[in-house]
Amino acid sequence: MTTEIQTLKPEKVFHYFNEIAKIPHGSYNTEAIADYCLGVAKQCGVPAVKDGAGNVIATLEASPGREGAPPVVLQGHLDMVCEKEEGHAHNFEKDPLALTIDGDYLTAEGTTLGGDDGIAVAMCLALMAEKDQMVHPKTIIVLTVEEEVGMDGAYALDPVVFDGAKRLINIDSEEEGIATIGCAGGSEMGLKFPVTRTDETGLIVSLAVGALQGGHSGMSIHRFGYNADILLGNILFSLGKDITFKIADLTGGNKVNAIPQSAKAHIVINPEDREKLGLILSRLQENLRQSAEQGDKNLFISARFGDQGTYDVMDPESEKRCLMALNIMPDGVQSMGRVLAGRVDTSLNLGIMKTTETTFELITHLRSNVDNDRDLLGDKIEAFTKYLGGTAVVTGVYPAWTPKSDSPLYTVMNEENEKLFGTPLVKDVTHGGLECALFAKKCPDMDIISIGPNILDVHTPAERLSISSTERVWQLVIATLAALAE
Ligand SMILES: [Zn+2]
Repeated sequence: MTTEIQTLKPEKVFHYFNEIAKIPHGSYNTEAIADYCLGVAKQCGVPAVKDGAGNVIATLEASPGREGAPPVVLQGHLDMVCEKEEGHAHNFEKDPLALTIDGDYLTAEGTTLGGDDGIAVAMCLALMAEKDQMVHPKTIIVLTVEEEVGMDGAYALDPVVFDGAKRLINIDSEEEGIATIGCAGGSEMGLKFPVTRTDETGLIVSLAVGALQGGHSGMSIHRFGYNADILLGNILFSLGKDITFKIADLTGGNKVNAIPQSAKAHIVINPEDREKLGLILSRLQENLRQSAEQGDKNLFISARFGDQGTYDVMDPESEKRCLMALNIMPDGVQSMGRVLAGRVDTSLNLGIMKTTETTFELITHLRSNVDNDRDLLGDKIEAFTKYLGGTAVVTGVYPAWTPKSDSPLYTVMNEENEKLFGTPLVKDVTHGGLECALFAKKCPDMDIISIGPNILDVHTPAERLSISSTERVWQLVIATLAALAE
């Protein structure tokens, strides 16, 4: 199989991709791949260093006669997401990835491929190896660590390494023909409401909502699916109009960047209301299914009846507070089309809901392509949280990369794309996060574009990289560098 990969074009790019696939390089395990990159740089006569965070920085001097052209940064990340199929024996600390070719796609058997972002690493190494056959300005290669786990490398990077460059090409996007010119920033808000408890005698019911489509809070929020935590709050609020109940606890979701697919509450009801509860829930389920987005059409609301007895429940004040918080809490898409037509600007996802003996806690992840919009939304949440007697703590703030109205780098890349393939590069913004945001923050006048070949099912064992797309994107990179050297 290896020999087959060696025959793929562009030859050097796939050669290096194949080499780095042999070196385990999950997040926090990037020392070996970084050393390999330094080794390649040395062989190619390219000065390269590793900074304190483990990022690799290599400097390609300009082609002869092109010393006057302004420098450019070419950037990607060293680490990959390690996911494998259930039951697949693979040790991400030791084992090489088992690359296979399937038609136009390169995949890894049973695991993520690391096309994200190994293809950027491979292209940068290929550029070092072939630098003398190409025309390029001074090119600073920056390969960061820990992009996938909080962008630690990009955070730590000293902008001095850019050496005054005002143009940066990031190769960490996954759709050919698209030039990403902006991305969302974000923050996490943890809300805590006090709970006092009392005893209640009645029938305990485990009430659940489930079978929702969920998805990634950045990449799937535009599907307008239900959030299980919010939905459960709505269901209980509605139920309260017809039935008296007491809440023992509410739980749902376990990752702040995943839209919860299910949530659960334990409530105590009067045993006489058992049948009525069932009828109301099935009516609610029917209504919700009808108004649901396609992916949520099979949602269910279930009630499992336990024993009659005396249970520890929230007192009326606490219960009101929790239901109010859940029903006031903004969630999902908040605005669209302001930064780019048809694209989400601002959203949030209530990823985690839990109850302890003395607290009711919500954690939501805010995203916006405009930092100020995110802050205003945060203020609104903080205001009602405090009004309801709770506390709000903001953590993990990262900036948005707001598109520039004028990008000479885009103009050059777009022209080269037209010349090569007869099609324009389409400008886009992503609601996910990119390291570009941190570079834009560190160097406000840096002109940045993110591109990349087609990679499907990123971050899953089904990840696959289009071979032909890789070749075209490589041609675009080469042509752009040549144009930038003029
Ligand atoms: Zn990536």
